[in-house]
Amino acid sequence: MPKKLEYEFVYAEYMKKGLKLLEDKYIGSQIPMKCICEKHNEIFMLSYNHLQYISGCRYCSGYEKHQIDYIDEIKIKQPHIEVVGKYNGCENLVRVRCKIDGYEWM
Ligand SMILES: [Zn+2]
Repeated sequence: MPKKLEYEFVYAEYMKKGLKLLEDKYIGSQIPMKCICEKHNEIFMLSYNHLQYISGCRYCSGYEKHQIDYIDEIKIKQPHIEVVGKYNGCENLVRVRCKIDGYEWM
């Protein structure tokens, strides 16, 4: 397989998981390559081999929760509540506000 096709194939595989490759060449499946999660703007190193076992960045994979996902989750579970604080791990409290009466709590 020509090198160029190989790179394009790998690039497409990363894109399937919402990851954009930031490298301009593909050397081998065990070589970690820099990529960015387009949803979370998370830049990290990931080899093609490892890509097979994950579903995206550490936030996509559910290892950690991102502010964006936390806000989405709240929107679905508690539509009248908005997140005003910054989400900082599940063990920390986040400041939220009730959209109906404006009451804020943690
Ligand atoms: Zn992600």
